[in-house]
Amino acid sequence: MNKAFDYLGRVTIPKEFRDRLGISPEDKVRVTCANGKIILEPVKNFCALCGTSDSLIYTLYDKRNINLCDECLKVVQNYVANRR
Ligand SMILES: [Zn+2]
Repeated sequence: MNKAFDYLGRVTIPKEFRDRLGISPEDKVRVTCANGKIILEPVKNFCALCGTSDSLIYTLYDKRNINLCDECLKVVQNYVANRR
């Protein structure tokens, strides 16, 4: 299957592929480039503030799947400490 990028660099991922991987609108995907390929991977766990899936260390609510990365957690902790 060949697809064309539009002038903003967007390409539609076929619904069949999205359904197969359980990707819904507004879900996040990790985009990487390696060995001449662009790779999209569904990301289920990501930082609620910056969106990274790296260095996730703090989950606020498991049921809601709200996570913070190491860096954002430090920012939040610093903010809270300085409010007192
Ligand atoms: Zn973060």
